[in-house]
Amino acid sequence: MTYLARRLLAGLLVLPGLIAASPGAETGFPASSLRVIAVIDGTDELHISPSGAKWVHKGWSFPTDVRINGQAWNPHAKDSWTPPSGEGILRRDLDLAGVVLHTLRGRGTVKLGRDSSGLVITFDDPENGADTYEVALDFAEVLLKENTSTATDDLRLSVKATIDGNDDVTLSGTRALWTHTGDSPAKDVTVNGQPWDTVKTNLLQLPAELTPETFDLQKATVTKLKARGTIGLDYQAERLYLAFDDPASGAGEYDVVITAPRFARRNLVRVETGINESLEGAALKIYRAPDDPEVKSLLAGQRVFDADGKCLVALEPGSYRFEVLHRAGDLTTLVALKTSAVTVVGPTNIDLKPITIHPGLIGPEGQPMSFDELSLRSSRRSGDVTWKAPNRDSPGPTLILSPEQNYKLHAFGHADNNYVAVWKTSSTAEIKQIALDHDQWLECAFHWRDSTPLAVEKGVDLQFPDGTFSIPNADKVHFFTNRRFFSLGYWLELNDHGRAVFQPQGQVLTPKKVRDFAFGGGVRPLASAAILKDEGLGGPNPMRLWSEITLGDAENYILDTGASKIHWASTVQLKDGGAIPPIPFTPEAERRLGNLKDTLVIAATCSLNGPLKFSTSPQLFVPREFQRFSTQVPAYRTWNTANYFAKAERELNFIFLVRQQPSDPKRHIDLHWWLNSGAVGGGGGITMPFPGYLESLDWYSHPWAIAHEMLHCFGYGHTHEMNRLDNLVQERMEYFRWYVADHPEYVP
Ligand SMILES: [Zn+2]
Repeated sequence: MTYLARRLLAGLLVLPGLIAASPGAETGFPASSLRVIAVIDGTDELHISPSGAKWVHKGWSFPTDVRINGQAWNPHAKDSWTPPSGEGILRRDLDLAGVVLHTLRGRGTVKLGRDSSGLVITFDDPENGADTYEVALDFAEVLLKENTSTATDDLRLSVKATIDGNDDVTLSGTRALWTHTGDSPAKDVTVNGQPWDTVKTNLLQLPAELTPETFDLQKATVTKLKARGTIGLDYQAERLYLAFDDPASGAGEYDVVITAPRFARRNLVRVETGINESLEGAALKIYRAPDDPEVKSLLAGQRVFDADGKCLVALEPGSYRFEVLHRAGDLTTLVALKTSAVTVVGPTNIDLKPITIHPGLIGPEGQPMSFDELSLRSSRRSGDVTWKAPNRDSPGPTLILSPEQNYKLHAFGHADNNYVAVWKTSSTAEIKQIALDHDQWLECAFHWRDSTPLAVEKGVDLQFPDGTFSIPNADKVHFFTNRRFFSLGYWLELNDHGRAVFQPQGQVLTPKKVRDFAFGGGVRPLASAAILKDEGLGGPNPMRLWSEITLGDAENYILDTGASKIHWASTVQLKDGGAIPPIPFTPEAERRLGNLKDTLVIAATCSLNGPLKFSTSPQLFVPREFQRFSTQVPAYRTWNTANYFAKAERELNFIFLVRQQPSDPKRHIDLHWWLNSGAVGGGGGITMPFPGYLESLDWYSHPWAIAHEMLHCFGYGHTHEMNRLDNLVQERMEYFRWYVADHPEYVP
């Protein structure tokens, strides 16, 4: 335990007489529920069968402080464990197909799976150091017998406080954590009448543990009795966040009540498929209203199919949709099963009635094609499951689908020198022959100008919102698709075994016109330089030189010097032969550097079928404006600029949207760049890491931290509300990506 955690525990306030017994307190074995705690640093697997547990350590440090229902275990000393009583871990009569796993603590990912002897829990903690993970395992048949309680047993928390600024209360497990930002700390805080001095201790023991199979936290609500500012209640993975925002001057009184209902009596829902190996360990997702956002509609907890293709779930009465998206272990089979809304009023059997399909792909003029990739979309707004051909001309995938459903899909394939990429919505029956109408096909070809460096092979890389497609020998190829907008880059396998890669640019196809994309031609050096801040250097206003040199072809495609294998090396020097001043630059050094265009010379050497040398003066950054943004960037990086601006503008629109405010066309944001990591925002400007701009090559990805920094421009501090809005903006960015995937006619 860290010093900080000890200090926090010492100051823990306990609400008197209200602690309820929780499933986590169970210590007897064999148990009917499990609570596992472990400090994880790296990747670990915990295998649980009814008789015992086995730890498989995969990477980094061994786990420490492992406890199963309170019993200590050191997996480093002994990799298998059985309870000291000599009994098994789990009651023998429990059907493991009814397991549900909740992650209560842990910053990384926890995944529930199956193997032939039982359950497999995979912990993955990718960050530096270790973190404490806590998972709860409950079983459907046990849950059926619990929670017969009435509304009087719902969780009810009355919170009163005098607030000045922003205060967040995180409710998780047995505790409430108070976080204050801005202005004066909260005063006169009471929870269910009990005073809480949040300055003295930021932790409070809750009247009952927020166990996820007891309280329906996704349906928690907040009632405002008194509030002059705003109150938010947010749910995220087994915890609740109550946010107070008091923007007016001085302090205001707040009086709110949070309620979280207990689950009503539940029914056993038996989900069966009749298929076995290809579904073992596949996740069953269960959705209920409201439909949006995902975090509230996807029923909390992980559930998986057993080796018989069966999953048991305890569900209270209601309407549910079920979905399975899975790529089977043999990699040849894609599973995409779903139901329409199913009303559960009592014990229910759901047979997903899977049918097996060997799909076909038909190109223009009825030509049968080999599959290179097939993706089936989720029934949700984002997500898919994808099969990729292990090698060219390998047999196509086997699909396990629900009958009489519609699937959004994309299929990439080829036959001879024709390549196709198709997006469409098909019924289960139509997937047997994926085809487009004659007039839906758009067509293009690719050619390289005569003076292009000689290559034994020339290929193109196509980038779509939901995948990429690499076409070899593209100079002989015709590409057919129904998608109008995509980005297109190319590569050359050079005669001297080198490889030159050119970065993508956005391109548009037009109906009824065969577009011939031209690439290559003689290359010329492109260089730029700027003096930018690098706070990593320390000191006040630390500045240093940024410069680059690359090559551009006749069509302004830019060489990716990092991805190419051409022995690329570059230097930057003062034209007068002097040395670049030491960093961070003094004002005198910056004066001496003067106008970089006149004082610097940037040179590069490489091998493009033989040694080549380039040397040029750098270009200065040029001002660029797009809608509500302005910045300064290298003039030749037109695609980086176009997609970065477009994504910034999109996120700004989403900020207005998630704040439920009309978009302000006059809002203006100045984009600045620096060379250190991190970003800042406030007032009318944001400063972002310049590598994020250089790496920005696609139309859909979220530029790291940009919504967060723009929210600072709207006056938000580091509050839970800010994180909530940031998450909503990023969710909208994903929705946009999948919206475009589903609308191949989209053109920016
Ligand atoms: Zn910040």
